[in-house]
Amino acid sequence: MSGAVSFPRIHQLATEVANQIAAGEVIERPASVVKELLENSIDASATKIQIEIEQAGTNRIRVHDNGQGIHKDDLKLALMPHATSKLTLFSDLSQIASLGFRGEALPSIASVSKLTLTSRLQDSEQAWSIDNKLNLKPAAHGPGTTVDVQDLFHVTPARRKFLKSERTEFLHIQALVKAVALSHCSVGIKLSSDGQVVLNLVPCADNPERRISDICGKSFLRESIMVNFQRDDMHLRGWLGLNDQARSQTDRQYFFVNGRIVQDKHVNHAIRLVYADRIDAGRFASYVLFLQLDPARVDINVHPAKSEVRFAEARNVHDFIYAGLTEAFTLSAQPGFFGDDLQGPVKQKRGRVYEQAAEYRQRHSLQHDFESQPALPNRYLSLLDGRFVVVDREPEPLLIDIEKTNTLLTRHELLRAFRANSVESRQVLVPITCELSTKQLERLPVHTETIKRWGFKIEQVAPTQVAIRATPLLLPYANTVPLVKDFLNHLEPRTQDEAMAATLVAHVNDAGLTVTQESINVMLNRISAYESQQSAGHVLPWRRLDITALATLLNNPL
Ligand code: ADP
Ligand code: MG
Repeated sequence: MSGAVSFPRIHQLATEVANQIAAGEVIERPASVVKELLENSIDASATKIQIEIEQAGTNRIRVHDNGQGIHKDDLKLALMPHATSKLTLFSDLSQIASLGFRGEALPSIASVSKLTLTSRLQDSEQAWSIDNKLNLKPAAHGPGTTVDVQDLFHVTPARRKFLKSERTEFLHIQALVKAVALSHCSVGIKLSSDGQVVLNLVPCADNPERRISDICGKSFLRESIMVNFQRDDMHLRGWLGLNDQARSQTDRQYFFVNGRIVQDKHVNHAIRLVYADRIDAGRFASYVLFLQLDPARVDINVHPAKSEVRFAEARNVHDFIYAGLTEAFTLSAQPGFFGDDLQGPVKQKRGRVYEQAAEYRQRHSLQHDFESQPALPNRYLSLLDGRFVVVDREPEPLLIDIEKTNTLLTRHELLRAFRANSVESRQVLVPITCELSTKQLERLPVHTETIKRWGFKIEQVAPTQVAIRATPLLLPYANTVPLVKDFLNHLEPRTQDEAMAATLVAHVNDAGLTVTQESINVMLNRISAYESQQSAGHVLPWRRLDITALATLLNNPL
């Protein structure tokens, strides 16, 4: 090789640059900053937190708390990467009880803003303050901590450019504060925006319903049923909105694992299955659910913003949630649950659900016996680990290849919805960011309409990065990033609808298919719909079993 080209040697990145890169992962938008600061205050046992926002956070985010405070000598350290008071050994990760632990938030935020950290220990006389130049000086401040973040992203204009309108960014902040507040009702939280108080939540540790109604509204509490379900060391509590509380968006779907709001496809699937025929088509359930389990059984360190988790036994968690919710609905539908004397209209009956909750909790001990659930029609027999199922239904039994049937039906439903311009999207609560190739990126502005029509919401958030905000509802288990990349790779003006449906369906991921009475019923309905829309004559992955023919086959001596 000629000496004309000189390649740079390897060198360690400057801390500043490394922090800015890490900031890209943790801090997508102003709401991410609010999340980290709010979690830090909660970890510091604050009982009062004030959040002040200016210009949707781009100008200023100030979080003030009355927590334990930070020692003067630790202030500098708090702004250093991987400096944390919450974790010492890697093995501690499996027992983590605090919301933070990566020691990344403060240095990341400081690297993309003008940050001042002021703090006074509970038993100290003097407060101290430090800025991102690491100047330490005495300050006037009560016991607790204030983090003042100004001019967010002023050093990374590329990211600032990709922020949405002020209103959108503020709505993200508000949604985030509400989610955190729901799982921490012992903390009083006040949120103000440009001087106006937007939320003022009083602490209500002994009356969690107060917090639920402050955030989701009184009608949500009235028109929901309670869940309180325990098996082994898993405990699920919360509220399930009834049909009248279903919404046009997924904005009232709160799921917490050990107090942390998370997104998990197994959990979403279990909840969706239970709700499938309990709310109107095209609407989204409202719920607030808290799952508590041994921290060792859930890995929280799989996402930089800690918004995804990995369960050690995802299948168990799925089935547990499914069972818990099904039980809650089954019990609420039993005569006597609403009080036998109640004869009023349905609305009124629902109003009683909540009042009856205490009684419900007493009557149904936490350790519920699964075998005693009422049998539903259409008994089924599962063969070969759920791959084939025989359903005993009128007029004749049906043999179903579950995986193939699901693929065929999903492809058919997707295509049909696409043609009718009605593909439903599943919003991702915490958007997934990923890198795309230039070719993939170039397709975004060209095919905006088609992307939307297939149920995707993909937005560019940085020069080479997008945030995936929604995917087709019909593909709940698909691995999001590969799905989106594959979709974009196939997005050409000549691509036929059928071919695209086939591409998408390749991501169906049967891991999410569980064979239960409910899921079989759902599948039977989908099969009926398919048969009524499609002309006969195809080779289908299901088959009617003609009893006479079967009998002849078995009884016929050769
Ligand atoms: P992490 O929360 O992952 O430990 P951070 O960068 O968010 O990392 O914070 C670093 C450290 O600074 C924390 O471990 C904690 O000791 C301290 N700290 C941050 N915010 C506060 C606060 N509001 N009150 C008390 N201590 C805080
Ligand atoms: Mg933190």
